[in-house]
Amino acid sequence: MSEPKFKVSALKFRPQKFGEVVSQDFVSTTLRNAILNKKIAHSYLFSGPRGVGKTTLARIFAKAINCKNAKDGEPCNNCENCDEITRGVHPDVFELDAASNRGIDDVRAIQDAAKYFPIKATYKFFIVDEVHMLTIQAFNALLKILEEPPEYLIFILATTNPEKIPATITSRCQRFALHRLKIQEISDQLKFVAKEQKVKIDDESLFLISKLGDGALRDALGVFDMAVSFCGENIDFESLKEFLNLPDKDIYFETAKFIAQDGLKHIIPYFNKLEENGLDIITYYNGITDHYRNLLIIKTTDNTELLDESDVTKSKYKEQAAVYTGDQIQRILKILIDSEARFKYSSNQKILMEALLAELCRINREVVDISELISGLEALKKKSLK
Ligand SMILES: [Zn+2]
Repeated sequence: MSEPKFKVSALKFRPQKFGEVVSQDFVSTTLRNAILNKKIAHSYLFSGPRGVGKTTLARIFAKAINCKNAKDGEPCNNCENCDEITRGVHPDVFELDAASNRGIDDVRAIQDAAKYFPIKATYKFFIVDEVHMLTIQAFNALLKILEEPPEYLIFILATTNPEKIPATITSRCQRFALHRLKIQEISDQLKFVAKEQKVKIDDESLFLISKLGDGALRDALGVFDMAVSFCGENIDFESLKEFLNLPDKDIYFETAKFIAQDGLKHIIPYFNKLEENGLDIITYYNGITDHYRNLLIIKTTDNTELLDESDVTKSKYKEQAAVYTGDQIQRILKILIDSEARFKYSSNQKILMEALLAELCRINREVVDISELISGLEALKKKSLK
């Protein structure tokens, strides 16, 4: 039988060494140093958003500590301990998902298991994911172990909500806050995965998928896998957009162009056509707001690096920002933000959007008029001073 061709990328490319973990360098370095200097704590708390590598780091740590051929604090990934931990079958490394096993009995099972020496590893590991979900009784039982942990025991508690964990627990842990990944970090990893899978993907698509990951590599890899199943081994931007059913950035550049040109005559039919083609009005509203926020950033800082956009899009923003004055952009943004609540409660979002677009075109003209007026006055002043 032939092997299935495709395996979920987040699993297939799960890092097996500290050095392979994308980002979170501070955590990797500290844990490696702890191993090298033999200064290992009994309980660790990894907090951070989902999909940033909390349990991945916990497993690597368990391997690196118990590996028979560890080198520079890294696991060999070949010995029996490494292999069994990777496969999730090591008798001394336990993983508990507190989201579904949150009661006292589950923690009692840990208490019982904690009484005995490890079977073949140096340290017994308990990795408790989503630990904030435990019941109070379960936390109390856990606290009892953490107060006097046996020498051979290590706890790694992972959570997306550290504030929900009792202080009595957190104060006994060495704490690490893992951060969301930058778009560039996700995109670099996606590029690597695509190359390994022999999938061709253009930069715009790479960027879009990375952005959709919203700081979590696992989520971005999930979108990537779906894109591969839709587009095949050649992911191009056009098919990707079709698959994701995302409005094209171009509609916002076009909208902002009409507003800048006082193009009320054009913008209403344009919007109506988009709406007929199935554009969601709230998505459109959010898109325009986001667009002017980006224009404001370019206008005030002249730094395109601050935009979470692809290079092609960045240069388009730069071009369009030049058409507006900073004052115009600020006034438009203010109107957009002030309209947010109106959209929420409106029973006819379409009319509201048309009125809003008309207002944006008009306000833009007023600002132009005022600035023309001011320069006119200044010219007059100069003339009279002569
Ligand atoms: Zn090993």
